[in-house]
Amino acid sequence: MSRPLRVAIVGAGPAGVYAADILTKSDVDAQIDLFEKLPAPYGLVRYGVAPDHPRIKGIVGALQKVLDRPSVRFFGNVEYGVDIKLDDLRQFYDAVIFSTGASADRALDIPGIDLPGSHGAADFVSWYDGHPDVPRTWPLEASSVAVLGVGNVALDVARILAKTADELLVTEIPQNVYEGLKSSPVTDVHVFGRRGPAQAKFTPLELRELDHSPNVEVIVHAEGIEFDEASMVAIRTNKQVEMIVKTLQEWAIRDVGTRPRRLHLHFLEAPVEVLGSDHVTGLRTETQELTGDGNVRGTGVFTDWDVQAVYRAVGYLSTHLTDIPFDHVSGTIPHLAGRVLDLDEVPVPGVYTTGWIKRGPIGLIGHTKGDALETITSLLEDAAALPLATSPSPDAVVEFLTQRGVPFVTNEGWSRLDAHEIALGAAHGRERVKVVSREEMTAVSNG
Ligand SMILES: Cc1cc2nc3c(=O)[nH]c(=O)nc-3n(C[C@H](O)[C@H](O)[C@H](O)COP(=O)(O)OP(=O)(O)OC[C@H]3O[C@@H](n4cnc5c(N)ncnc54)[C@H](O)[C@@H]3O)c2cc1C
Repeated sequence: MSRPLRVAIVGAGPAGVYAADILTKSDVDAQIDLFEKLPAPYGLVRYGVAPDHPRIKGIVGALQKVLDRPSVRFFGNVEYGVDIKLDDLRQFYDAVIFSTGASADRALDIPGIDLPGSHGAADFVSWYDGHPDVPRTWPLEASSVAVLGVGNVALDVARILAKTADELLVTEIPQNVYEGLKSSPVTDVHVFGRRGPAQAKFTPLELRELDHSPNVEVIVHAEGIEFDEASMVAIRTNKQVEMIVKTLQEWAIRDVGTRPRRLHLHFLEAPVEVLGSDHVTGLRTETQELTGDGNVRGTGVFTDWDVQAVYRAVGYLSTHLTDIPFDHVSGTIPHLAGRVLDLDEVPVPGVYTTGWIKRGPIGLIGHTKGDALETITSLLEDAAALPLATSPSPDAVVEFLTQRGVPFVTNEGWSRLDAHEIALGAAHGRERVKVVSREEMTAVSNG
């Protein structure tokens, strides 16, 4: 081709940015435009990773270097399906990669789950991470709270609920989040896992971090520390499981200290009903027993827990994108090595996918690198046969968005917002303070 390959990436989370990274480092001369519905890039690294995980936020530095490359442009505040559609993108690009991730809560079908006071973890995470599209206030009125699920997100939610606002003030939490958490009367956070300790989905590091707060006593309830044959095999063969189980066993037998708030870990307790008539007043669980293969069955023994709020952290869910095939069962875009497949399972020419929308909402940031590598490898294999853009000039898409009145944010705009947030933080000895409202974000970006 006599001109550079033109590639659009929709979704500027880590998966999209890693795809841009790998493509710019390949032998192919490519121009990449990243479209992102929010005025800021980085997806769940900015709006999912807990604020007290600054180490992970360090990944942002590496992602920013990719955005800084001359062949990569950022178009923030542009929502695929609303501001721009597949047919539009096909005019301007030879290939389009969808990396829109996952941002909604998976449902949990138990009675009472829709009562006021019962929340999805994703909504709470969006609130404490200052997502522009969620309300600024969060009802933190409960003294006892239940968190359902034993993955990393459940532990994030439990930790943020249990820690004091002042402990979190050193992080980049926005002022409204600090004030919300400061008013919380919480004393006890109960985390419930349906299966046993060897089946927990969190990582050893995330588990141990729970114990680092000077204000939170972590209590493992010994009744649920049980193992069947499958658990013993998992402990023997999987280092992570071994570490998790060792930590939980140590915590289950230690003396309970006097820190003012308590975070309880309960295993083999399946939530069966959220109790209450017009607001959550409790949670009913059924004690489970392991069946030998790592699965569980109910014992018919029920317990009612006195909690006034319930957070379900049972997984994230991706959203169906306009004009793009979607598997509603797995919540992913059907694909073959990153090539999007139509209903007849035939690759749609020039359309690719990567990240959580491709693989499902599991795995860490680093895992999206492997995803991106597979997708870009497929794209480069197809390069000679891609359906060529009819308006390949880099200016054409800028004109399109301008004519439509889309107030998009550019690389320079994002740099301005980034610098502004860092300056806001520096004024208080903090690394950054996030700007929350979309209007303010775009206003700062536009100088
Ligand atoms: C609560 C939580 C905490 C986590 N903590 C950690 C952690 O500590 N460490 C770790 O390694 N991993 C962590 N993860 C996992 C990590 O966040 C994911 O592996 C990773 O973000 C997935 O990347 P992605 O790019 O596929 O999706 P996302 O990060 O979700 O990025 C997708 C992007 O697409 C954009 N988008 C969506 N729809 C559209 C549209 N229509 N038009 C334009 N743009 C769109 C979104 O705004 C978003 O910016 C956490 C995940 C969650 C949910």
